[in-house]
Amino acid sequence: MKKLPFVTKEQVEEIVKTYPTPFHLYDEAGIRANAKAVQEAFAWNKGFREYFAVKATPNPFLIDILKEYDFGCDCSSMTELMMAKACGMDGEHIMFSSNETPLEEFAYANELGAIINLDDFTHIQCLEDTLGYIPETISCRYNPGGVFAMSNGIMDNPGDSKYGMTREQLFDAYKLLKEKGAKNFGIHAFLASNTVTNEYYPKLARQLFELVVELQKETGCHIAFVNLSGGVGVPYTPDQEPNDIHAIGEGVRQAFEEVLVPAGMGDVAIYAEMGRFMMAPYGCLVTQAIHEKHIYKEYIGVDACAVNLMRPAMYGSYHHITVLGKEDAPCTETYDIVGSLCENNDKFAIDRKLPKIDKGDYLVIHDTGAHGFAMGYSYNGKLKSAELLLQEDGSVKMIRRAETPADYFATFDCFEQYKFEK
Ligand SMILES: *Cc1c(COP(=O)(O)O)cnc(C)c1O
Repeated sequence: MKKLPFVTKEQVEEIVKTYPTPFHLYDEAGIRANAKAVQEAFAWNKGFREYFAVKATPNPFLIDILKEYDFGCDCSSMTELMMAKACGMDGEHIMFSSNETPLEEFAYANELGAIINLDDFTHIQCLEDTLGYIPETISCRYNPGGVFAMSNGIMDNPGDSKYGMTREQLFDAYKLLKEKGAKNFGIHAFLASNTVTNEYYPKLARQLFELVVELQKETGCHIAFVNLSGGVGVPYTPDQEPNDIHAIGEGVRQAFEEVLVPAGMGDVAIYAEMGRFMMAPYGCLVTQAIHEKHIYKEYIGVDACAVNLMRPAMYGSYHHITVLGKEDAPCTETYDIVGSLCENNDKFAIDRKLPKIDKGDYLVIHDTGAHGFAMGYSYNGKLKSAELLLQEDGSVKMIRRAETPADYFATFDCFEQYKFEK
């Protein structure tokens, strides 16, 4: 399928009069339509809730939009918890799915009333020592080990991942937590990342449903929710077929009807912690071609760099690129599209077929709405860009300002001897 940006050349030419490139731009209409589709797809489940994975796009303006659809926040650090609080999330709308958790974060999550999802058996004792008790509602993260395979092959390798408890530990954890006063239990598992197939959630759900039926039988614990976590992917490449969230919701419903309902557990709530699926396609990085270089290959230098989007440098990820105004032009050239870091992996695309690019052209780097801006770092002293929201009425609102040198130097502000220019 041809991938087209949600913004036009004319719109970008208007935006840059106020906000210079590079910037991340988010599409409010797209975010809303997708959030609504997620709610509809799981409307059959009375307790359903999506806890948006804050790490994907930690911006309160975007979280506020999701809040209108009754979404919560999935947090895994102190500042993510603070952001959920600032967005007015109450405890039942905050899931604290962390690992290697600092004890003060357990304490703060509990103070906010968040649901705590324990990554390890030993964290039961840590939590009790920290709080002085075990909360009534508690969740445990499960790692089945081995590989997670679906009809199209091996999807991921839980046996190699640091997360979660073994099956045996999980049974022991529920028994111990119950002894210590827990009343409502949840289970959580994240077994494959960026799955572009409607099978992942249904398959994971069936596995977890079968497990909680056994858990309830053996431990007598009341199972309140099954948290399918993240991992629902998006098509980064034009040849991939997008996930159909309605088909995914229906697949989970069938497993629910077949496994939980006959076991008398039809009141179990389904939770999700999608990050990528909620935001990735509804954000893009807009950058300008500022140099072209002909050596052993053809290079286009742009004003964004891996600081703005790390995925290509870090994982070799494909992000589709559109040259604005040349959407229909033939792809006659082969370019490396590169940023300015003193790192040869600072390439948004390698050997990419694109239309002829002229200096001054605006490029849209697609699908940066999740794990994009958020992963940024500050190598080479590069400053982070602004984040802008393309609102439903076509107007643009700044939802995070660009960093200034003062932000970069801020952590030296307790020293007097250096004077940085403002
Ligand atoms: C990263 C993460 C998510 C979100 O994953 P996506 O692939 O972006 O959907 C959800 N839950 C936990 C615990 C995570 O670490």
